[in-house]
Amino acid sequence: MQPCLADLYANPSSLHREGQRARAAVERAREQVAALVHAHPDEVVFTSGGTEGDHLAILGAAWARRAAGTRIAISAVEHHAVHGACEVLADQGWSVDHLPVGSDGRVEAGAFAPADGTVLVSLMFANNETGVLQPVEQVARRAREAGILVHCDAVQGAGKVALDFRSLGVDYLVVSAHKMSGPKGAGALITRRGAPLSPLFRGSGHEGGRRGGTENLPGIVGLGVAAEWAARDLVAESERLAALRQRLEAGVRAVAADAVLHGEGAPRLPNTVNVSFPGARSDHLLMALDARGIAVSAGAACASGAVEPSPVLRAMGVPRAIAICAVRLSIGRTTTAAEVDAVIEALREAVPAATRVGSTGAVGVAGAAATTGVTAAAATATSPRGGPGALA
Ligand code: PLP
Repeated sequence: MQPCLADLYANPSSLHREGQRARAAVERAREQVAALVHAHPDEVVFTSGGTEGDHLAILGAAWARRAAGTRIAISAVEHHAVHGACEVLADQGWSVDHLPVGSDGRVEAGAFAPADGTVLVSLMFANNETGVLQPVEQVARRAREAGILVHCDAVQGAGKVALDFRSLGVDYLVVSAHKMSGPKGAGALITRRGAPLSPLFRGSGHEGGRRGGTENLPGIVGLGVAAEWAARDLVAESERLAALRQRLEAGVRAVAADAVLHGEGAPRLPNTVNVSFPGARSDHLLMALDARGIAVSAGAACASGAVEPSPVLRAMGVPRAIAICAVRLSIGRTTTAAEVDAVIEALREAVPAATRVGSTGAVGVAGAAATTGVTAAAATATSPRGGPGALA
């Protein structure tokens, strides 16, 4: 990305030589993204990330098919980006049906029976909170038989597990760079050749008329490189992540035998662990771990801070008392076994500390800064929520 900022400054739409160098960088990235998901480069539309990609696919397909019906079906566990696009449609008079999930977090493909007038179904590839994989291929097959378009939010799965746009059988697939160790604010919609798409932004014909606006060149180049590295390392990296997850889950069980691992037993992403420690509310646990230098998410990362139980866990039938104790631990490209062990050690102290907050109102992590290298900034940042002096 750095050469783009310093050296590739021209607008990719400019006809002069510098512009054409920038254009070549965009087209190289398009090939890299297409290769990751086995699509044609001309099926790749660059966006500002997953949220825009989901909106472009859902609104773009729905508006283009408006004459055929005004109904859409989505799974009950979709990301806010998908729910948000559906709110726009609902405001315009569309009906939105929610496909239920079982206690394993998965939609039952055999039960998919779209109502009359449904023009689009949206089913994510992997859930952002639990990592649970959905039966996208099977649902897409049934949708196709009924003449219904299919959108798949693959933001969480792309780059972590193998993904084939064509064999999934969907019309629209969305990826985001920052979920593949790339930059924030860049992503892509992969749209099947011939699939209807009404653009959200009408500009000067950018992205084949599908997304107006001058391209974010550094972001796009970063996305391309992230996609290429993810494709190159996919098999080895997903095996490595799965081994680390197993180590982490074994450690979690050793820390608390009553820990509830959400989505356990279902096919899942290799990097995600969603666990409730009954009695340790997730915001309290988040703070107790933060004070020990460990960053976790309570509920969806994008909605961090809310104490409300996650709608995803509620849709899976998880009781409220357990759902409000859920935290998500994500394992990344640079995570090592030693770091996983450090998290387990931190949990050993943080879970009882967070459980105590529920009964006493104090986090009680005195001495943590000395033993875990927590910075003053981290303690300051978290103290307002825990009350003055709550984090020593
Ligand atoms: N969809 C899923 C499943 C996500 O996890 C996210 C972000 O975390 C998004 C969509 C939104 O992507 P972005 O942050 O690139 O807008």
